[in-house]
Amino acid sequence: MRVLVINCGSSSLKYAVIDTAERRELLSGLAQRLGSPEASLTIKAGGEKLERALPGAEHAAAMRAAYDDLRARGLADGLAGIGHRVVHGGQLFSASVRIDEQVERGIESCVPLAPLHNPPNLLGIRICRELLPGLPQVAVFDTAFHQSMPAHAYAYAVPWAWYEQHAVRKYGFHGTSHRFVSARARELLGLRPDDHGLVVAHLGNGCSATAVRNGASVDTTMGLTPLEGLVMGTRSGDLDPAIVAFMAERLRVDAAKVVDLLNKQSGLLGVSGVSNDMRAVLAAAEGGNQRARLAIEVFCYRLAKHLAALAVPLGRVDAFVFTGGIGENSAPIRARVVAWLAVLGCRLDPARNAVHGRDSGGRITVDGATCALVVPTNEELAIALDTAALVAGKN
Ligand code: ADP
Repeated sequence: MRVLVINCGSSSLKYAVIDTAERRELLSGLAQRLGSPEASLTIKAGGEKLERALPGAEHAAAMRAAYDDLRARGLADGLAGIGHRVVHGGQLFSASVRIDEQVERGIESCVPLAPLHNPPNLLGIRICRELLPGLPQVAVFDTAFHQSMPAHAYAYAVPWAWYEQHAVRKYGFHGTSHRFVSARARELLGLRPDDHGLVVAHLGNGCSATAVRNGASVDTTMGLTPLEGLVMGTRSGDLDPAIVAFMAERLRVDAAKVVDLLNKQSGLLGVSGVSNDMRAVLAAAEGGNQRARLAIEVFCYRLAKHLAALAVPLGRVDAFVFTGGIGENSAPIRARVVAWLAVLGCRLDPARNAVHGRDSGGRITVDGATCALVVPTNEELAIALDTAALVAGKN
């Protein structure tokens, strides 16, 4: 089955055409800087890359240009459905769903929880409906996989009215990746579907870790928003919440501004002062930059502490799983984290750690030790597979 996968952001539109039978990407595209004179569309297919200027284009014009290109390549006709990445499904959605009016209203009702993400996600859905009427559309939520968390994991210890009246609780994100990667790790390790415990670390620009017991998320590091938990490229992760009021007063700004700084000027970028990109921070550390070294140490130490904490709901950890741009590609970061996890019986095999990565997942610890392994993620494929299953009526 051929599926169009859409990830519609505030000023960007990412898409891919996936052949679900072959689990293969046929084409991918990225429209960026939408709404500005520099708007452009980049298309990758068959090893070739093509870039087109689309000055002033908004989402609808970009989607039309993308669709015209798909038609010209003969990729539009056989499409069986469209899968949309939707960031927040609140407490309404615990799995992917076929989109109808009621589902759209549900996504709309979650806008207060993700004001920057759900509106462009909805826009993508509406544009596709106009452009490709009659083609089934599916919503795949970042939060859905974590709806299986028990109340003692998702409840914050705050006045209960905050939860009842304002839906303040832990939701968790990156669910599509955690679900895909944990299922793959279980297969690779030959674990029983009804008896396994995995801790998955998704380390990209955003980072989160999840405890997966018997195929279900039982706890995760991100919270009401993707700011909680691990140190990330530009996000702080956990901190004393009193810092928000303290810095608002010091900087003479409001709380929203401080939260913005915690989202955009913190994490690896904040500590290193070099970059939010792990490759650049590693290079600076290599060159002797002390703050870059500290940023990496803070990143790895905090990550290891969270991974160890996520063993609690599992009782037994069959494996720690690394994925995402950093998790798949950075052997030094994995080595540092595994070293911290010696307390839980992990012992790195440097030779294995050096060879495993994006192209070949696999074990990176020595035989007999607690297992850590690399499993490449593929969120587009996961979205396409959900879409294909729902379109075929299998879910
Ligand atoms: P996103 O979360 O936007 O999907 P990715 O999963 O691609 O992003 O992860 C991006 C991160 O992966 C960046 O911090 C980047 O520096 C890091 N990364 C990619 N390749 C390497 C590498 N070889 N070594 C270290 N970090 C890497």
